[in-house]
Amino acid sequence: MARDPRFDILFEPVKIGPVVAKNRFYQVPHCNGMGHARPLAHAAMRGVKAEGGWAVVSTEEVEIHPSSDVSPYIEGRLWDDRDLPALTLMADAVHQYGALAAIELVHAGMSASNLYSREISIAPSHVVNPASYAPAQARGMTKADIRSYRRWHRDAALRARRAGFDIIYVYAGHGLSLAMHFLQSRHNHRTDEYGGSLVNRTRLLRELIQDTKEAVGLDCAVALRFAVDELRGADGISAESEGREVIEMLAELPDLWDVNVSDWPNDSKTSRFAAEGYQEEFVRFVKAVTTKPVVGVGRFTSPDTMVSQIRRGILDMIGAARPSIADPFLPKKIESGDIDDIRECIGCNVCVTGDYTMTPIRCTQNPTMGEEWRKGWHPETIPPSSGSDTFLIVGAGPSGLECARLLGRRGYTVHLAEASEQLGGRVTLESRFPGLSAWARVRDYRLNQLNKLQNVEMLRGSRVTAGEVLEFGATRVVIATGSRWRRDGIGRANSRPIHGFDAAHGVFTPDELLDGLAVAEPVVVFDDDHYYLGSVLAEKLRLDGLNVTLVTPADRVSAWTVNTLEQHAIQKRVLGLGIEVCVNRNIVEFDGTSVVLECTYTERQSTMPAASVVTVTSRLPNDELAQSLGDMPESIGAAGIVSITSIGDCLAPGTIAAAVYAGHRYAREFDRPPTDEAAFRRELPDISWR
Ligand code: ADP
Ligand code: SF4
Repeated sequence: MARDPRFDILFEPVKIGPVVAKNRFYQVPHCNGMGHARPLAHAAMRGVKAEGGWAVVSTEEVEIHPSSDVSPYIEGRLWDDRDLPALTLMADAVHQYGALAAIELVHAGMSASNLYSREISIAPSHVVNPASYAPAQARGMTKADIRSYRRWHRDAALRARRAGFDIIYVYAGHGLSLAMHFLQSRHNHRTDEYGGSLVNRTRLLRELIQDTKEAVGLDCAVALRFAVDELRGADGISAESEGREVIEMLAELPDLWDVNVSDWPNDSKTSRFAAEGYQEEFVRFVKAVTTKPVVGVGRFTSPDTMVSQIRRGILDMIGAARPSIADPFLPKKIESGDIDDIRECIGCNVCVTGDYTMTPIRCTQNPTMGEEWRKGWHPETIPPSSGSDTFLIVGAGPSGLECARLLGRRGYTVHLAEASEQLGGRVTLESRFPGLSAWARVRDYRLNQLNKLQNVEMLRGSRVTAGEVLEFGATRVVIATGSRWRRDGIGRANSRPIHGFDAAHGVFTPDELLDGLAVAEPVVVFDDDHYYLGSVLAEKLRLDGLNVTLVTPADRVSAWTVNTLEQHAIQKRVLGLGIEVCVNRNIVEFDGTSVVLECTYTERQSTMPAASVVTVTSRLPNDELAQSLGDMPESIGAAGIVSITSIGDCLAPGTIAAAVYAGHRYAREFDRPPTDEAAFRRELPDISWR
């Protein structure tokens, strides 16, 4: 398909200091849980982005010194020359496709744990890291420390050039770097020329940019990543005052401004809390203050929005972390006019959970993310069919849809049977709830792709029985029938049913609310699941006007969403809506009029009035079809069926990301011989130097 001329502007080159980006697509730094520990996986992932058309592809944070060790998080590392080969791998992978390689040099200051290096953290003044309860303090830096820091940064820039990087960052973003800590008056209590006035607090940042330019500026562009607003009013940097003043002071010094908001949860807001382009109101002034190119982010997936950002003079380059994770080929698809094929980020932040759990990145929309090297998965290129198998897939949730899409792309004949008239399974149901509408993209992308495939037949309103499976005539059967929420209360806090948790007493499951069943107030939402759904349902019921209390055995609302950067925003919203919150409480009994609560520490009991309870604890697989078929091996053989495989939630309920991954994995791997070894390549420690 030909490109719409409307989008031509996105493919104009941009000069950044001594280098030129071939278009306006810029993959800004993002962490990935691979970093220095898994350099081959990291390089391959970045290489795929370059192949997908991004003109600039950046590393994540790269630690420049042992006193900036952010363990246990796995970021990039450039402490000395021994770190060069790993980073060179990445720069080479990016150059292979004509993209520029950028590196984000970071000294994390008081944000560094130094748990591995056991160095003492450094900061502008004697302070504790407010983001951690660790029993340690950072020490205030002397002038000699400042000189050392400038030398480490300069050495790192020189090394980065040797590794082949084209753009070298000075980083003052997210509240995670020493350069930013110096800017922040709440952390910088110095009385010398590096503290006090904003001019003084900016001195170090200015010196770092100058040092970097002197060291590598002839060959490499020097970019500044700067958070123009911390979203904390007068207590922090804000776009109306100090954020703007810093840009005015340094306007022409860096070769590129990469601007955003801080801290990371504010920068990477989920779709539950912010729409595409949400940073515009904070960064729109920047271009009026500098002539240097400006890149910014905002979960951009729509080419029209991107064009509008450029045409209205908000940004020069379209920055993206998540949209490039969900679709590494986003620029290429716009370039070739295949807008329909874009796999739009849903804004769920499952990608962030990799970093938070120190494991390789994963993505709900893009199951190949993180698997580029270790499994050899490519987001767009898929091996063709290896035989004449025909497939019956039962269930069109995320797992069944992805499985059908990929088997169809491989060229197989696929029949996808779905009991309901609606496709999309849980995604279709959950996307109707407050804040989750973008999640429907998981379904929509796949349906769009399936509609283009002649060899995939979709059978709606077809509840499949074991007998029908046998008669169908497919050689392979995939069961993707999903799961249902339990009503009996069994979950983390209760390994036995809770007294009175049954329909007769007015206990509802999330599935019943998803089906639109009305509940009586006062209603207690019992969240022993700890991800998003408990708080989403409480929010929905409250917005319906009901008196709602959220009870959880955890110490906070939606506790696991710390890993998606949402926990604070969720609890703030829940409290703001007037939902009562009761933490560290288990429910041990319900009689239709009140619940008995038990303190998770003291076992002390109390009662709370409740006309109904919505219980969000755990799920049971819909495995009845799989079980019936498992009971009839002879009939299966006689029907010519080679394999019956359960995937996704009907095997073990999990995230939508896990269900999509399971569907994808089956379609890639069903024809591979089984092995007892790990199903992927591993990067093992090199002990050959001993
Ligand atoms: P997953 O996340 O594993 O994809 P979902 O619960 O989202 O699971 O989707 C499962 C889908 O399977 C639902 O749309 C459900 O209607 C469908 N389904 C369940 N049992 C059958 C069956 N016997 N025949 C056809 N479709 C089924
Ligand atoms: Fe977007 Fe979710 Fe994928 Fe992250 S995991 S890139 S937020 S779809």
